Amino acid sequence: MDLRFSAADHAFRGEVRAFIDAELDPAVRRKLAEHRALTKAEIVSWQRRLNARGWATPSWPAEHGGPGWSAVQRYIFLDELHQAPAPEPLSFNVNMIGPVLIAHGSPEQQRRFLPRIANLDDWWAQGFSEPGAGSDLAALKTRAVRDGDHYVVSGQKMWQGMAQHADWMFTLVRTDGTEPPSRSAPAPEGLDRLGAGQRRSAKPQAGISMLLIDMRSSGVTVRPIATLDGRHEVNEVFLDAVRVPLDCRVGEENRGWDITKFLLGHERTGIARIGMTKRLIARAKALAGDDAGFRERAAEIEIELKALEITQLRLLDAMRLGGHGPDARASILKVRGTELRQAASELLLQAAGTRAWRAAGDEFDATAHADTTIAATYFNLRAASIYGGSNEVQKNILAKAVLGL
Ligand SMILES: Cc1cc2nc3c(=O)[nH]c(=O)nc-3n(C[C@H](O)[C@H](O)[C@H](O)COP(=O)(O)OP(=O)(O)OC[C@H]3O[C@@H](n4cnc5c(N)ncnc54)[C@H](O)[C@@H]3O)c2cc1C
Repeated sequence: MDLRFSAADHAFRGEVRAFIDAELDPAVRRKLAEHRALTKAEIVSWQRRLNARGWATPSWPAEHGGPGWSAVQRYIFLDELHQAPAPEPLSFNVNMIGPVLIAHGSPEQQRRFLPRIANLDDWWAQGFSEPGAGSDLAALKTRAVRDGDHYVVSGQKMWQGMAQHADWMFTLVRTDGTEPPSRSAPAPEGLDRLGAGQRRSAKPQAGISMLLIDMRSSGVTVRPIATLDGRHEVNEVFLDAVRVPLDCRVGEENRGWDITKFLLGHERTGIARIGMTKRLIARAKALAGDDAGFRERAAEIEIELKALEITQLRLLDAMRLGGHGPDARASILKVRGTELRQAASELLLQAAGTRAWRAAGDEFDATAHADTTIAATYFNLRAASIYGGSNEVQKNILAKAVLGL
């Protein structure tokens, strides 16, 4: 096992850094450094610059426009984006629906959607969770009934990140006319999000299909969910007799669960975001000065972060040797990565003291003091241990798939 970067890796890092310095709008960099929300236009503009360079879709195979990078290069690329800081390519597009269509979409769907996904011409939302179906995702109730060459879809989705910007939503629906098991019944073995498929007896997941829903369709309503940080990040999406053409189904009818597992595996990749945590700690240290107790706590987190970075490099090395994608051990990165990001944001909150709080809002106010987003950032990061599959569920996966318990 060789955990050192090669000379070529270092050269690649320099190339990425130079590109970011040359191409990233300094105002966007500053907003991210101060943990302010970006506008849709700013996110789209950056992704188009990356796409023009051939870098918007790091994990896609070269025949579909990916850059042909190794796992290590993908890691370096993301690390540079996080530390710059620069926006990541939109995850819903690039890490979720793009890989799904490459692996499971029809040639027609690939031609129609992939170039627009890469260039962020279409912004995608993830319509999976529902009230009562999050960790236990197979309990979802949204139903789609065939009517000629369309499905008619009705139900409620919950927690759709950035759906206020979305043109399309990849959505899980029930197509076999059955009811999922009632919430009062004990959840069948192994139905938890991300752990799905590892052990399974009952089959509520058997009647699920994946549909691509045009958000401009009649019957789609997006409603914001207010969160503690004052930002508009998540939404409820109501689907009221929405007509979806049959050719917007991905894969076979009632066979969407395997595609779902594939997508959720991709959602987990790159989730440790070590570079972001480094930035939080650096900002906290700059604010706190020489306080000894504070420096000790900062050092503790930095040591843990170093250990996590080495773990991430070990997993990358295993992937390079084995030539396969991330395995269940990637759940360690999700759990520790989010725990440490939360710990760093707490440290930053303590360092800022009473300066930390002013509602962030989505608008950038150049006259506002940079520290005023610190409390909002702290609140925002509480959700990191929940989305992408909660940390408790990740621990279940580790217990079963890695420790064999
Ligand atoms: C900020 C944010 C953004 C999100 N974005 C999206 C999105 O874009 N699209 C989308 O579809 N969804 C999204 N989600 C939803 C997210 O995937 C779910 O919130 C998550 O899967 C947990 O589901 P739940 O909220 O229903 O909680 P529940 O599943 O009800 O869990 C409640 C608690 O019980 C624990 N728990 C549940 N099952 C087990 C178990 N088997 N063992 C041990 N503990 C367990 C959980 O860890 C949690 O602490 C988002 C959520 C948040 C907070």
